[in-house]
Amino acid sequence: MKKIVVAIDGFSSGGKSTMAKDLARDVGYTYIDSGAMYRAVALYAMRNGWITENDIDIEALKKNIGSLKIDFKTNEHGVSETYLNGENVEKEIRTLEVANAASRVSALDFVRRELVRQQQQMGLQKGIVMDGRDIGTVVFPEAELKIFLTASPEIRAQRRMEEMLARGEKVDFQKVLANIKERDERDLHRSESPLKKAPDAIVIDNSNLTRDEQRELLKTLFYQKTLE
Ligand code: C5P
Repeated sequence: MKKIVVAIDGFSSGGKSTMAKDLARDVGYTYIDSGAMYRAVALYAMRNGWITENDIDIEALKKNIGSLKIDFKTNEHGVSETYLNGENVEKEIRTLEVANAASRVSALDFVRRELVRQQQQMGLQKGIVMDGRDIGTVVFPEAELKIFLTASPEIRAQRRMEEMLARGEKVDFQKVLANIKERDERDLHRSESPLKKAPDAIVIDNSNLTRDEQRELLKTLFYQKTLE
C-alpha cells in the first residue's frame, strides 16, 4: 500500500485535531499539529515580552525565529506533545491567550515561511496526517488526500468550551465564541496564506456527525486513496 500525505484544513476548534489523531492512530501514520507550532512561536514571543495587546516586536521575532526549535514527542500514553527548545510546552500553549497570540503571529510572512519550511521537512517521508489552515493549499499542495472541515461557530465554541472545562479551566461561552469568530476573521482575511479550501479538497461538515461516524468516513476516504 503506498504511503500518502493527508492534509486536514478548516476553522478553529472544528475538530480537525480529533479527526487527524483518530486517522493517524487507525492507519499507523504520524500526526502533526501545525497549529501547535504557531502556538509555540506565540508563547516564545510572549515570554520574551515581544507581543502585547496592541503590538508585536517584529524585528526581535524575525531575528530569533530561525533559532527556535519546535518538535513533537509521544508521551507514555501515546499522545503527541509539543516541545519548544527542548521544553514540554503542551499545556501552556493551549490557553485562550496563546491561541489569540498564535492567530496574530501566524499572519506574519516570515513566521509562516519558517514554519512551512519545517512542516515540509516533516512530510518528506510521507505517512503523515497534518492539520492546519494552509496544509492542502501551501504546505502540501500535492497531498493525496485533502479534507476541508467545517462546522458552525456555535458548535465549535460549545466543543472548545467542553474541552476546557474538562481540563478544569473556567470559561464563559460568549468569550469562547467571540474568540473563535475573531480567529475565523483573521484566518480568512489575512493576506498571507488565508484559510481557503483547496480545489481538490473534500468538504466535510461535521456539525451533525459523531466522532465514530467521522472516523469511519475518513478511514474509507483514506483507503480509497492508498489503494488507487
Ligand atoms: O489550530 P490551532 O487553533 O491550534 O492554531 C492556532 C493558530 O495558528 C490559529 O488561530 C491559526 O491562525 C494559526 N494557524 C495557521 N496555519 C496553520 C495552523 C494554525 O495560521 N497551518
